[in-house]
Amino acid sequence: MTGTVRTRIAPSPTGFLHLGTARTALYSWAYARHHGGEFVLRIEDTDVARSTQDSTDQILASMQWLGLDYDEGPIYQMQRLARYQEVIAQMLAAGTAYHCYCTPAELEEMREAQRARGEKTLYDRRWRPAAGKVLPPVPEGVPPVVRFCNPPEGDVTWNDLVKGEITINNREIDDLIILRPDGVPTYNFAVVVDDWDMAITHVFRGDEHINNTPWQINIFRALGAALPQFGHVPVILGDDGQKLSKRRGAVSVTAYEDNGYLPEAMLNYLARLGWSHGDEELFTREQMVSWFDGSHLSKSPAQWDAAKLAWVNAQYMKAKPDDALAPLVAAQLKKRGIEVDGRLPSICALFKDRCDTTVVLADWAAGFYGDVTVKEVDRAQHLTDAVKPAVAALADKLADVTWDKASIAAAIKEVLATQGLKMPALAMPVRVLVLGTPQTPSLDAVLALFSRETVLTRLRDL
Ligand code: GLU
Repeated sequence: MTGTVRTRIAPSPTGFLHLGTARTALYSWAYARHHGGEFVLRIEDTDVARSTQDSTDQILASMQWLGLDYDEGPIYQMQRLARYQEVIAQMLAAGTAYHCYCTPAELEEMREAQRARGEKTLYDRRWRPAAGKVLPPVPEGVPPVVRFCNPPEGDVTWNDLVKGEITINNREIDDLIILRPDGVPTYNFAVVVDDWDMAITHVFRGDEHINNTPWQINIFRALGAALPQFGHVPVILGDDGQKLSKRRGAVSVTAYEDNGYLPEAMLNYLARLGWSHGDEELFTREQMVSWFDGSHLSKSPAQWDAAKLAWVNAQYMKAKPDDALAPLVAAQLKKRGIEVDGRLPSICALFKDRCDTTVVLADWAAGFYGDVTVKEVDRAQHLTDAVKPAVAALADKLADVTWDKASIAAAIKEVLATQGLKMPALAMPVRVLVLGTPQTPSLDAVLALFSRETVLTRLRDL
């Protein structure tokens, strides 16, 4: 490949960073990194009514959380209005764009008539200049829009990096509006000027944009600009087979951060959702970068699989060093008003194997930092009269042993022997009293992470 590969992600700040956009950002980023190229972040904020600073902040925070670092940006389209207007002026002069003075009412009338004739509703080009054509008189007080002179005939064909060859006939599309009366450009125009100015070589984006691409290609050509390659990535479907949307569960990157997923697990899962490298399910960012050459992108929609994501996250949690996991769990606990201490890495070590999110790990850890509620059903099932004396005996024993795992283990063994009990018979009620659940990792290890005082208080709550 010659020249520098330059990719971009261009979210609109009309909400959080959607999982689909995050995945496209990942593909664009990985493609640039794979080729030693550059990745640009552009904020497409021309929908002034719906764009917010809060959304921009959230998008930037999510990009950072995912570790998708960019070489340029964020570039804001609203700061580039003068540039768009400059290009518009050139196009008007070159005759590749023109003013249109149709009012909304006229356009509606035009569409009405087309519908009545059973035709596709397309702008009829009444303001488009042509040799020998007499244009309507310019009406008073109607601010014009600028429309692009789309070629009326012929095919637009491109070799899509994901979908292969795509052809759309120009008769299917009309002379789209490229500049609104308020001087703000529309998406299809601004995106072309930007991709041109920013020397973007590869555009990955959601396949909902396929119908926009012919317009964009025609505008690139009208400007004499080099075309980037396009790759349209299929949508992500929810587990009900419908497009993944807010109504069907969490779709923002932020929600997954809040819900205890690790960014490296998210990246791994998102990467696999629509792309593969052999049978590899778990891989590092570095591996993805070395493998991601734009091939093996799936042509068909991917299905969101919450259970698989949880599995991937669990694998990453297991592999994460306890010292690195602890601050994430501490952040979760902080939200619940719980301050942690130096025990947290050891608590993580003991419990992380049974957790698929840091939220679940925080649930376990919370038992070490606050009160534990013993459910009546557990009490009834595990704290039988038969076992209570053994629990009391254990409490007495633990009152004066050295407070470490080995001595606690010895004390438990001794009580089992003197009471003639098997381990589960004593361990279950003790776990219920100490952590509020009969299932925990090894009892001596769990107890050693509490203070003696807490254990005795909880065991004596018989
Ligand atoms: N702002 C557009 C979007 O968020 C960008 C599409 C594109 O990448 O061209 O869908």
